[in-house]
Amino acid sequence: MMMVIMKRDATREHIERVKKEARVFDLEPLEMPGEERVIIALKGDEREVTTGRFKSLEGVASVVPILKKYKMASRDTKWADSVIDIGKGITIGGKKQVIIAGPCAVENEKQLRDAAEVVRKQGIRILRGGAYKPRTSPYAFQGMGLDGLRLLRKVADDLDMKVITEITDIRKVVEVCQYADILQIGARNMQNYALLTEVGRAGKPVMIKRGLSATLEEFLLSAEYILSEGNTNVILCERGIRAFEQEVRFSLNLGVVPILKDLTHLPIIVDPSHAMGRREFVIDMALAALASGSHGIMVEVHCNPEEALCDGPQALTPPMVKDLVKRAKKISSAIDMPLVLFPYKP
Ligand code: PEP
Ligand code: MN
Repeated sequence: MMMVIMKRDATREHIERVKKEARVFDLEPLEMPGEERVIIALKGDEREVTTGRFKSLEGVASVVPILKKYKMASRDTKWADSVIDIGKGITIGGKKQVIIAGPCAVENEKQLRDAAEVVRKQGIRILRGGAYKPRTSPYAFQGMGLDGLRLLRKVADDLDMKVITEITDIRKVVEVCQYADILQIGARNMQNYALLTEVGRAGKPVMIKRGLSATLEEFLLSAEYILSEGNTNVILCERGIRAFEQEVRFSLNLGVVPILKDLTHLPIIVDPSHAMGRREFVIDMALAALASGSHGIMVEVHCNPEEALCDGPQALTPPMVKDLVKRAKKISSAIDMPLVLFPYKP
């Protein structure tokens, strides 16, 4: 498949000419009218075709071959920023920033409710929490499963919040969709293509985390798996990559934020918690992530981190959440991407 991106002022004649040329090469032309310009997807095997052939036609701005690259995720295909509507007035993307917060894993009702209240009181309305945890060790706490999903829904509804939770298994798509507002694809599953295809069909917004050693092209191609199933509500998440440095859990690759904003229209969230691995360093990098122009951050929170069943050392304590939000507002306003917070009215 390849995409022929027409110039803004291309005429109907120019478009028809491209379609006619496509049929000569046994490619099926699929016209996608955009707000500003028309894009024509050419379905079929284009290896025999020189893209230059289409490039030289009148009215054509550029040609993106899909055999090598992502297309629906690209800014060439869709210029305007994608703004993902989560419902209840909450959006992710565009010129605003958001904070997603909550515990690493749901452990019990009290632990979840306590953490959720802390973040909600700071104006945050997207609650994170894992019910299915992809643990490196098979002997580590694997999450509460369905009971955890039920708790997430209940606590979020009580506090007028939305839920993001990880899906690790293709067999759980229906179940997780019943309780979650945003599906999270973890770093370890970024290249689980069967799972990506299924969540692409599920019709819920999806946040996909960058794999431990994935290049941006691989990252965007994984997003493309979801997009190409017709699900346009995809959010990217940079969470640190594996490098040689041992002092951090992962190396937070903030330099990719402006690059991704150039390459793609999809929103970009940064997770400093899993990258830094230690709470005393999370706020600094959370602020840096906002300053880099990301569309928001996701942080882990626990009221008793020393008792956490998962990722305790990196969980922010309640006073730290308050401090983070206070300082985040200043960064957001300094870079003209206002931080969206919702006052808490119990
Ligand atoms: C998480 O967000 O809980 C998580 C497991 O993160 P990652 O997939 O980035 O390791
Ligand atoms: Mn975690």
